Amino acid sequence: MNTEMPQTPSMFPVGLTGRFAPSPTGPLHFGSLVAAVGSFLSIKSKGGRWLLRIEDLDPPREDRHAPDLIRATLEAHALPWDGDVLFQSSRHEAYLEALEQLIELDRCYPCSCTRGMVQRSGKIGPFGPIYAGSCRQFPMDPYSVFYSWRVQTDDTPIQFEDQRFGTQQQRLESEVGDFIIKRADGYYAYQLAVVVDDAMQGVTEVVRGEDLLDNTPRQIYLQRLLGLPTPSYLHLPIATDTHGNKLSKQNHAPPLDNHQATQNLVKALTFLGHHPPAELHRAPPETLIDWALEHWHIDNLPAAPTTVTAPQTG
Ligand SMILES: [Zn+2]
Repeated sequence: MNTEMPQTPSMFPVGLTGRFAPSPTGPLHFGSLVAAVGSFLSIKSKGGRWLLRIEDLDPPREDRHAPDLIRATLEAHALPWDGDVLFQSSRHEAYLEALEQLIELDRCYPCSCTRGMVQRSGKIGPFGPIYAGSCRQFPMDPYSVFYSWRVQTDDTPIQFEDQRFGTQQQRLESEVGDFIIKRADGYYAYQLAVVVDDAMQGVTEVVRGEDLLDNTPRQIYLQRLLGLPTPSYLHLPIATDTHGNKLSKQNHAPPLDNHQATQNLVKALTFLGHHPPAELHRAPPETLIDWALEHWHIDNLPAAPTTVTAPQTG
């Protein structure tokens, strides 16, 4: 057993801790700035620390220049992170240990079904096809070379309080199904990595886009199985393009211009329901952030759920 893996809550770092955890698929765009600003202000206005974690779990989708671009953009926008940057690519041992823990608990199993098989055999739930649990009932072909690991779910309702959406509840088995924690190509799934790293880093508050709201019960389920603490959650409005799609690299969201940091921050704050006075619209980014830290209030956020078209950023 790897002794570096925190096993008990008493071993976690103490204090309020938030984080910004982008995938390094490209430079930051307006949607990622909103998540960075929101998570920074939420934890910093309470005197906590704000960590930067690069979620580089999926090398084929990544851009090797992205981590440096992300750091430069955060610096230009007066959003300094605390401590060292954590790269998920350096954390495979900890993910393996969590997987082994779940195997030991008899709460996960190998699955050799392809995506097509899952789509054909499963019913469609609110979040896509629900895996029918075929490999749970009929153990997979022992000679399969490519298989994923799925965690076995149950139908006990998982309830949590989101600071913006209020009480949320999901029944994993009937709404989501047994989900993948290690992919057939050998990479660990986001759901497992995020839970293991939030715990190891002592994250007490997760602030991110509302597109991840319905992932939260899966993460809470894993936290409970692994004996890890559950942070508080705040899901922010997400910026969309004029077609209603979330801003993303796939949708060709333009990268942020670091020379327009003040304008970008004014737009991000306005998007989050905070309206810096006109005399600050040409102030240095640090001044705007100081103003925002003083004025940050969760009640100013747009009511949930929202889809707000992002302003043009240059
Ligand atoms: Zn299967």
